[in-house]
Amino acid sequence: MEAIGVGIVWILGIIVTYMILQSIILGAINHSKLAHDVNEIKALLSQIVIPESKAAFDEATREKCPGCGSPVLKTAIYCSACGLRLHGVDEDV
Ligand SMILES: [Zn+2]
Repeated sequence: MEAIGVGIVWILGIIVTYMILQSIILGAINHSKLAHDVNEIKALLSQIVIPESKAAFDEATREKCPGCGSPVLKTAIYCSACGLRLHGVDEDV
């Protein structure tokens, strides 16, 4: 009787382990597919959004403030966002 009980426990343990492994593997597959889709969307967005915004950025003759990163006019002396002096002090052009 005891041997049969131990055998049933082992079989149940194997089944439970198999189910857990299967769910982990399926989760990993789903996760990698999701990651792949996200990367695909990112690639599409970088193709569509970045060139346009970069063109607009150049068209407006703007550059990034070295202090805060916000777009400022190339002719601006001070950054309108953080007040950093952009030109006039150490400009050697
Ligand atoms: Zn700034």
